[in-house]
Amino acid sequence: MEKNSLPAPFLSRIQQQLGAEAPLFLQSLALTSETSIRLNPFKGAEIAGEAVPWCAQGLYLPERPSFVADPLYHAGAYYVQEASSMMIGMTIDEQGDTNKEGRPLRILDLCAAPGGKSSLLAGAMPPGSLLISNEVIASRAAILAENMARWGHPGVIVTQNDPKDFAFLEGFFDLVVVDAPCSGEGMFRKDPAAIAEWSPDNVENCALRQQRILRDIAPVVRPGGMLVYSTCTFAPQEDEEMVSWLLSELGDDFELAPFALQEGWGWDSLRLAGVKDAAHRAWPHRVRGEGLFICRFRRKGEGNEEQGITPVPRGFEGNKDLRREERKKRKNKEQGIKKGKGGSEEWRELVAPFIADDPDLHQELADDRVFLYPKAVAEVMPLLTGRLRMLRKGVLAGKLHRKGLAPAHELALSSLLSETVPRCALEKEAALRYLQKEDLPAADFHLPATHLPTANWLLPTYQNIPLGWAKLVGPRLKNQLPVNWRIRRL
Ligand code: SAM
Repeated sequence: MEKNSLPAPFLSRIQQQLGAEAPLFLQSLALTSETSIRLNPFKGAEIAGEAVPWCAQGLYLPERPSFVADPLYHAGAYYVQEASSMMIGMTIDEQGDTNKEGRPLRILDLCAAPGGKSSLLAGAMPPGSLLISNEVIASRAAILAENMARWGHPGVIVTQNDPKDFAFLEGFFDLVVVDAPCSGEGMFRKDPAAIAEWSPDNVENCALRQQRILRDIAPVVRPGGMLVYSTCTFAPQEDEEMVSWLLSELGDDFELAPFALQEGWGWDSLRLAGVKDAAHRAWPHRVRGEGLFICRFRRKGEGNEEQGITPVPRGFEGNKDLRREERKKRKNKEQGIKKGKGGSEEWRELVAPFIADDPDLHQELADDRVFLYPKAVAEVMPLLTGRLRMLRKGVLAGKLHRKGLAPAHELALSSLLSETVPRCALEKEAALRYLQKEDLPAADFHLPATHLPTANWLLPTYQNIPLGWAKLVGPRLKNQLPVNWRIRRL
């Protein structure tokens, strides 16, 4: 990148921040970004790469492959994520220190699209935990929902809400992550559009918006719980000064919660308000990753870790449209059960062949659709339903028909699948044809020798990881991939 393609006020501020190191920083912006991925701990893909030191599942790849032409990418076996962002995992590990017994956590990822940090949090949280993965912008929330479906974790609810909408959940969350919308200086190398959008006014506007977001969301952290704040910018107004702002505005309730990193990782660990390791910054000339700033606060006071469901405040009206929708769903559910599915429990027998036997799994029939999520999440679902705009909850198992369950694509990608669902292994070329929504002739697959307990539903797999569903019709595999999930162009 040419130095003179960068805005002059940015250059002079970087000079102040880095002094003699500024030329090294500017040189690093001309280099190609590293390509890194994070493996899905529930899928067990084997991919060669160099370990990202601060993330057990993180890998640097020797070069950037065509992800669209890799069936493992479509199967959710990994998430393409730049390495600095993987630092978020350290904050939950540290949270784990105060939670040695592995108590399920309630986590809110407030600014979550496209889902890099949410997928990491979902993989790192103790069993039975709830992650609400939220994105306020509708188009981005849809992408988040798809990425979380691909990741396949049952403890995740995807919502599309404004930070203010969470006010009724005061003191509810053990961990709230605010990966704030920012001026994006740390993305200058990866995304030249970030340079075009940058201006001192934009930095100022971002800082004001970050203050609003933090002020709105701070009350939902429980006493003793954590608030993580991160940006992908180097601008002190959005980073160090946001820490000072939070301590001055909310300091009666929040204190810095430092965490130490290993020196060899190259991160710049900052002392702020007299606290060592209060925040950490990745500069791209020192760290193998893009720019990132991260810090953490603890809400003061003793947490009641066994607090159970937070009571709904008196007089809370909820959203009328959403309540109407819920009433409709409940009615449909009753009708669905009456409509010849035989009785309130028979539908469970139709679902059973598809899902792993797990006593901690809750099954919900809504209309003719079956949703699966941990029982611990089911306990808080009545509190959330009708008050948050949910795009996904747990894993959609599928739709019930008279003859059985038509399994949903996201069930195939989830960690809830029964081991006994018949699978058929595909080589790469056939897997890519499947992912382009072609039906496959017998020559492309070996039928499992076992009896097919799930009617004719089969799971085509690539390297033992399910890609979706197919139906065995005569000698062909009839492709059941949803149209919007297919590869349009290789
Ligand atoms: N955490 C994401 C990840 O790791 O994939 C990246 C999040 S990005 C840095 C910030 C997000 O905040 C964007 O998706 C943006 O749409 C969202 N956002 C924008 N304005 C917002 C607001 N006023 N309140 C909350 N989130 C907002």
